[in-house]
Amino acid sequence: MKKPLLGSFEAPKSRAHMLGSLQKIHLPMKRFSESDEVDYVIVGCGSAGGVLLQRLARAGFNVVALEAGPFWDTELDWVSDESGSHQLYWEDPRVTGGSDPLALGANNCGRGVGGGSVHWAAFTPRFHPSDFEVYTRDGVGADWPIDYDIIRPYYEQLELEMPVAGPAYYPWGHPHGYPYGPHPMGGVGNALIKGCTALNIPVSIGGPVAILSGSHGDRPHCIYRGFCIQGCKVGAKASTLVTHVPDALASGAEIRDNSMASRIELGKNRRVTGVHYFDRDGNAHFQKAKAVIIAGYSIETPRLLLNSACPGFEKGLANSSDTVGRYMMAQAGNVVLGRFDQPVHMYKAPPAHALTEEFYETDPKNDFARGFAIQTVGPLPIAFGKEMVAAKRAWGWGLRREMMDYNHWATFGLLGEILPWPDNRVTLANETDHFGLRIAHVSFNLHDNDKRLIKTAKEKTTEVMYAAGATEVIQEARFAHLVGAARMGSDPRTSVVDKFGRTHDISNLFVCDGSRKALPTPPHHSGTRRSHGRLPNLSTRCHLYV
Ligand SMILES: Cc1cc2nc3c(=O)[nH]c(=O)nc-3n(C[C@H](O)[C@H](O)[C@H](O)COP(=O)(O)OP(=O)(O)OC[C@H]3O[C@@H](n4cnc5c(N)ncnc54)[C@H](O)[C@@H]3O)c2cc1C
Ligand code: SF4
Repeated sequence: MKKPLLGSFEAPKSRAHMLGSLQKIHLPMKRFSESDEVDYVIVGCGSAGGVLLQRLARAGFNVVALEAGPFWDTELDWVSDESGSHQLYWEDPRVTGGSDPLALGANNCGRGVGGGSVHWAAFTPRFHPSDFEVYTRDGVGADWPIDYDIIRPYYEQLELEMPVAGPAYYPWGHPHGYPYGPHPMGGVGNALIKGCTALNIPVSIGGPVAILSGSHGDRPHCIYRGFCIQGCKVGAKASTLVTHVPDALASGAEIRDNSMASRIELGKNRRVTGVHYFDRDGNAHFQKAKAVIIAGYSIETPRLLLNSACPGFEKGLANSSDTVGRYMMAQAGNVVLGRFDQPVHMYKAPPAHALTEEFYETDPKNDFARGFAIQTVGPLPIAFGKEMVAAKRAWGWGLRREMMDYNHWATFGLLGEILPWPDNRVTLANETDHFGLRIAHVSFNLHDNDKRLIKTAKEKTTEVMYAAGATEVIQEARFAHLVGAARMGSDPRTSVVDKFGRTHDISNLFVCDGSRKALPTPPHHSGTRRSHGRLPNLSTRCHLYV
């Protein structure tokens, strides 16, 4: 054959990035000079930073995002393979401690353009109104300086932009529907439906997930092969890499990838002047800016503020309250695995596709405040193998036997609310990374309310698994979803940022990421639970919300 039938195999003439099987982005992008004083520098181009970049660029601001990881080309950089996707996670060294140390690395922070939204499972349930007034209702945590009604239009807007597929009627929290139809069920979703139905527990099926249930622009439909937390090479799962970054660049934003912010510079009159960073070769740079927004997530945001200590802010930048790094939360994320006689094929669906939030609110019958959700999880074989090692101490031939049985197992995950405690904290370790920057020390401790909640949540999830028909049920303790450590509040003495994300101490320094999300325990908290307003009762009959 002299010529290939379908054109040539030559390299593309323009520098085009693939962001999915069909979506392309044409580089180069606009470039600013370091001596330009841009309007904003955003540190971190992840879930929050990516959206913010697009919003600011569209509004006409000169904006540069510094991103520690690479700008992914999904065709060249990603593989649909569990062991080949570790570069998606923030795997730099950190020290973990406390009475219940968190496993760090994979399963918490992202790295690279898109951040954690590249490897998230794309479950998108909204906060409930009660989440914003936990202290008023339940006597624990504290109320936010904003409420659900302020956030609600933004949920509605982003659910259209990502977009989110889910039931037409979702009953929990503030009842609402989703703009795109729900997904078909996989084996684990069917098990959750069966278990919940048998116990009269309402269950939502087919979402809400930010995964395409139909094609959308230049992004294709989900093909149900289960590699969502490996990045979704297809481009069906929403990440800011495929949803907001292309428009940000088209609107004139710049992303400097492989650029690790090392320190924020404080100038005169308590105003920041820009960000010091290292490029991929370790060369030091400084980008001038009128304002700086940190969007590095719950560990790296406080780390950067602490590493930016300077005269006037000896305990860390914007840390006059000594709350930077404190009140870090995770969710209890225990996985409950059940073995079924019939094959389940749990890889044949997005891991997240059905859930119940029936136990989300505080229930006076419980001996703890707040609650939990139960969702589908679909670990691929390596994760499943680790769970078998942890839960059954399986090893050698025994582990091999369990692995051969993979297709008969279903996995549910619980998402349990852990309260904010001041001793759950990010500080600086004495060790340094390859740039010479002090690394984070993360200390995590479960308190009584957390332990009681986890115990009940595990028991309920196990009950649902048996009710679904499992013949053997095991569980592995895990934590997921970090939040907090640069908390929002009205009082500058007890919080880092105000309700707009502006640091109380420095008027042109902002935080916009998961680290802002924290419900502080006020100093006068007595530890006792108060009566709380209940949301309207849901029917105890079983409902499938589609
Ligand atoms: C396996 C997994 C599944 C998940 N599934 C879900 C889910 O289904 N639903 C859900 O709601 N949440 C889920 N999450 C959580 C979700 O991914 C995070 O809450 C979210 O990504 C946090 O967004 P962020 O913008 O705060 O941080 P990120 O998205 O992590 O972005 C931070 C970015 O900042 C960069 N950065 C950090 N420090 C620096 C620095 N000094 N200089 C330059 N860049 C820096 C990082 O490289 C990163 O790209 C999941 C998480 C994991 C690990
Ligand atoms: S199952 Fe997940 S990885 Fe596969 S196409 Fe759908 S969203 Fe993407």
